[in-house]
Amino acid sequence: MQFEIDVKDSAVQQLRTALRGALVRPGDPDYETARQVWNGAVNRHPALIAYCAGVTDVLACVRFAREQRLRTAVRSGGHHVAGIALCDGGLVIDLSRLKSIRVDPAARTATAQAGVRWGELDRETQAFGLATPGGTESDVGIAGLTLGGGNGWLMGLYGATCDNLLAVDMVTAEGQCLTASATQHADLFWGVRGGGGNFGIVTSFTYQLHPVGPIVLGGMVLYPFAQAREVIEHYREFTRTAPDALTAYACLITAEDGTPVVAIAACYAGPLEHAEQVISPLRTWGTVLSDQLRLMPYTELQSLFDAARPAGRRCYMRSHFMREFSNDAIDTLITQFRRVPSPLSAVIVEHCHGAIARVPPEATAFGLRTSPYHFEILAFWDDPAQSEVNRQWVRAFFAATQPFSSGEVYVNSLDQDEPQRIREAYGVNYEQLVALKRHYDPTNFFCCNHNIAPTGR
Ligand SMILES: Cc1cc2nc3c(=O)[nH]c(=O)nc-3n(C[C@H](O)[C@H](O)[C@H](O)COP(=O)(O)OP(=O)(O)OC[C@H]3O[C@@H](n4cnc5c(N)ncnc54)[C@H](O)[C@@H]3O)c2cc1C
Repeated sequence: MQFEIDVKDSAVQQLRTALRGALVRPGDPDYETARQVWNGAVNRHPALIAYCAGVTDVLACVRFAREQRLRTAVRSGGHHVAGIALCDGGLVIDLSRLKSIRVDPAARTATAQAGVRWGELDRETQAFGLATPGGTESDVGIAGLTLGGGNGWLMGLYGATCDNLLAVDMVTAEGQCLTASATQHADLFWGVRGGGGNFGIVTSFTYQLHPVGPIVLGGMVLYPFAQAREVIEHYREFTRTAPDALTAYACLITAEDGTPVVAIAACYAGPLEHAEQVISPLRTWGTVLSDQLRLMPYTELQSLFDAARPAGRRCYMRSHFMREFSNDAIDTLITQFRRVPSPLSAVIVEHCHGAIARVPPEATAFGLRTSPYHFEILAFWDDPAQSEVNRQWVRAFFAATQPFSSGEVYVNSLDQDEPQRIREAYGVNYEQLVALKRHYDPTNFFCCNHNIAPTGR
């Protein structure tokens, strides 16, 4: 599809009249705020930002963008590191104000609109002692995270977020409303569970819920960086035998006093009478600088790490999966982290195990199931003058770790300058996703995403 850059005033007026929600354009007092996303390094200038107040607004936006041949981006939580929820020129269809949540405690399901964030959904489901597996931060949007797969503290017990999706309501590229589930448009339902925003605009998500908490054991234990090799080897052994109810991440970070430290962050969501026994290998091993593991409400754990990644901070990242977490990989992580230019940056190794790994890779579009360690290099900084040095650190770090990569990358962690890794992101399911794209979006109307081109390029 060829896109127009500009749009005539008369057409804008037409859209404004058609919408129940607000329409923002350059020159409006709230335009600068409206074009922000979570990553402060993203600087895009859409021609129009439509805050949808309901599904009819989404339909009006899709029809308008087609008629005017406008590039179209879709924003829900605005948290994708690549800033793909925005486009330069064109129309941003913003769903962030669609906030309805309905929990059915008897059926153990929840239906939430696309503008809901994890903290909001957890709060409502936890009122009934229930939850669906989400990410590990409360401010992230449920929409982008679910459509890309979704990993977090409950993945060992209950799988990826998309494994718990029961149905979605969508607006297609043709401007039609449909429901996709196991029994309706089952091909599309397969595709939205990992294929990102390639097939349409999801306006609401229905999830399976499970009993969780409300009290879990969570937090982290800090160890000296001088013992990083031993700590990470211990983490590797610990995770090899971890029960499904325990998920742990190893992190290299800088403490408040400026010294680098190794942290193991964990959540145990099983029966509390076993919690101490399960977690004790983290507490009683080696030199513990600080033991911050404690019983807490699940909703508190879900927001425990929010402060480390505030909206507006600059971020750049690289990631991949590892089949093995070898000693050479550990040494490389430690050597590269010693060169970190910003004390805000972090390296995280997530252990993906249990229920998420038991689903066959072809069962959903999210096929990254067989490599147990997801490894992320995250640069964070505030001063724009430091952008290049931080990006260089990430690139050099990533290059050094590539020999340990399984050749897979999580679509929700793929930064904006990595288009060559799209196939890695969709892995074994790429060809099937291309066929689905050709069927549901042959003109590639939904192209502001980690794009599956209908041509299969
Ligand atoms: C601080 C932080 C913590 C994170 N933690 C985790 C984590 O624990 N686990 C995890 O799996 N991921 C995590 N992520 C990654 C997260 O999954 C992605 O950033 C995800 O895209 C966020 O969803 P969003 O709705 O906020 O995204 P947005 O930036 O709004 O959207 C990203 C893309 O998703 C698509 N999209 C969004 N909404 C819709 C919709 N309604 N219909 C169709 N397509 C849509 C579009 O292509 C859009 O460009 C984290 C990210 C950040 C920044």
